[in-house]
Amino acid sequence: MRAWLLDDTTGIDALRLGEVSDPEPGAGEVRVRMRIAGLNHLDVWVTQGLPKPKSLPHILGGDGAGVVDMIGEGVTEWASGDEVIINPSLSCGECEYCTSDNMVFCAQYTILGEREPGTLAEMIVLPASNLFRKPAELSWEVAGTFGLASSTAYRMLDRAGLQSTETVLVVGVGGGVSSAAALIARAMGARVLVTSRDRAKIEWAIAHGAEAGFDSSSEFSKEVKALTGRGANVVVENVGQATWDQSFRSLAPGGRLVVCGATAGSKVELSLPVLWFKQLGIIGSTMANRSQFAATLDLVEAGSLPIHIDQVFSFEGAVDAFRRLESGDQLGKVAVRVS
Ligand SMILES: [Zn+2]
Repeated sequence: MRAWLLDDTTGIDALRLGEVSDPEPGAGEVRVRMRIAGLNHLDVWVTQGLPKPKSLPHILGGDGAGVVDMIGEGVTEWASGDEVIINPSLSCGECEYCTSDNMVFCAQYTILGEREPGTLAEMIVLPASNLFRKPAELSWEVAGTFGLASSTAYRMLDRAGLQSTETVLVVGVGGGVSSAAALIARAMGARVLVTSRDRAKIEWAIAHGAEAGFDSSSEFSKEVKALTGRGANVVVENVGQATWDQSFRSLAPGGRLVVCGATAGSKVELSLPVLWFKQLGIIGSTMANRSQFAATLDLVEAGSLPIHIDQVFSFEGAVDAFRRLESGDQLGKVAVRVS
């Protein structure tokens, strides 16, 4: 089969379209013929060895959707021809975490395409439990791209305990996770505020239910407090150092700051007295459990989580999809049409 192969971890230029042998499903596994591979910024990091793939050359890609074309021994829930969505969370499937819907804490947890071969290939073999049925009315582009970012955003809001009566501030809206967080928070009935350095991204968020947006490089906590009185109950952060201070100051008493990334600096300062006097929570979050992936798919299927596709690239043009992600100019999901 044809696959995009990463020859070394020196970046996007180390990618090439090559031939590898077709993967064969083992017991409990299913082979999927890929239709759409969805890319995330994570895939750009992996080209730089963050994290290092298990072996080289390596196939990238976490998100995807396709059609089942071969069944391994013992698989009864899938049949050849089934249209499926791939959940990019891989784990051992047997430990106390995996068996209690807490796979993200499994010692062997990894995201598809990080260490294990991913979706940027004509075929992929996965455990049967990694597949979800694709709703017929869902487009292939959406089915193949929403998973990783949207389910990560869902888990962030779930862990923060966001209530429909509360206000959420999404810092740095425009990326996959932050855009999904704004949409899911609206779907949950919460009041949504956003920040971005890009006016177009703020306009997008307002068109999708956000009440207001502020410049990420401004003292936006003042504007948040001017609008809300005491601040946001939940702040969704994936920017890091550049916005941390303002994000922290934006919290209302009892507020929760939930973090899933640090694209602009990973070391931050924290005022401990503010933390305890305002009784704030700081919550780390990454990826979702199976039930949260399923809940996210339900929102997408119901139409309450509209997935915006930034651009669809041809399989041969996948390198341009990486460059699009690297530029940070995308608004919504970047898809590669495999077949
Ligand atoms: Zn496990």
